[in-house]
Amino acid sequence: MQTIDLTQVPVVDNHCHGIMQDQTFDDIAGWRRSFTESTDSGMARDHVASTAFYRRLIRTLADFLGSEPEEEAVFAARTGRNGRELTGALLCAANVDTLLLDTGFPPPEEVFPVPEVGEIGGCRTEPMLRLEILMESLLAEHDSLDDVKEALATELDDVRGRGYVALKSVAAYRKGLDIREWPREEAEASFHEYRRVAGAGHARLVHKPLLDTLLHVAFAQAARQEVPVQFHVGNGDAETDLLLGNPLYLRPVLQRSDYRGMPVVLLHECYPYTRQGGYLAAVYENVYLDLSYGIPLLGYGEMLSFTRQAFGVAPTSKLMYSSDGIGVPELHWISAIDGRHAISEALGELVSRGELDLSDAEAAGESILRANATRLYRL
Ligand SMILES: [Zn+2]
Repeated sequence: MQTIDLTQVPVVDNHCHGIMQDQTFDDIAGWRRSFTESTDSGMARDHVASTAFYRRLIRTLADFLGSEPEEEAVFAARTGRNGRELTGALLCAANVDTLLLDTGFPPPEEVFPVPEVGEIGGCRTEPMLRLEILMESLLAEHDSLDDVKEALATELDDVRGRGYVALKSVAAYRKGLDIREWPREEAEASFHEYRRVAGAGHARLVHKPLLDTLLHVAFAQAARQEVPVQFHVGNGDAETDLLLGNPLYLRPVLQRSDYRGMPVVLLHECYPYTRQGGYLAAVYENVYLDLSYGIPLLGYGEMLSFTRQAFGVAPTSKLMYSSDGIGVPELHWISAIDGRHAISEALGELVSRGELDLSDAEAAGESILRANATRLYRL
């Protein structure tokens, strides 16, 4: 089969999260928790170590750290290194051009500040604004729905001017992607219900008419400024209702002509809805599909499979690499290795079948790993 060499292409990781300043773990099970979406304690203890992702991580990390390819030896080797230095070594080895960081989670006080990650990793870093967190803080400050909507519109009136390259919504984690338009009375009632639950403070915004109504305020601002909005889609933490994380639910939002200025980035290859996400990227000019190789935590064959699915339906100009790495630097690092590998293998197959010529394939690989994101986020 034709091989496409992408090993030297620096990546723009268009969606990832902060790295914890404290990289110490009490035991191996604690570290293993970084490699599962499950919050069930028995998963890290008894099952994570037997996933294909984890086995590959251990072997690859053993090579990098110069230890035996056994879990305990790898854990001891990474524990023996200072967190800042380990982070720097892994990010440099990953050959990162830019990291786009969702600053909404983990809490900012626990992770390296955005500019510091860049210094440590020898790369550029840019923050993204998580909408639901901003909404929750505005809901704590204002006494009427109209005031909250106005405050939100003001906060988002100049997204780039405030230092953010994109917005991100986790509506899929909260109430699903069927983001609707609600009659005023229902949105008001939802606001009062939220305030009743939150008292004078914060509450998790899972009040659907209220959340949907505020999302439309954000979409109008994003569309006017042509600022990309990332949507968490498909696979996610244990709270996600995967059924309502199907990207096809976004159709009413995508169909609105006044939102066409808003680039929509469907995260995590919409796993397992990659074909549906790829289809949307093929149909709607403003829809892009993110190919994330850190999370979901998959075996390599499954990564290759979703990469093929994306290539089979979506234009390569609509695909962008990411890690969704979070907490530990191992995720940002191994994702870059696996992502380059899967993308080059899937492109090589297209060349072998005569669908692409070699130079097209190399250009497509460069676009997916770096250039598409550079252009879309105006880096
Ligand atoms: Zn994420």
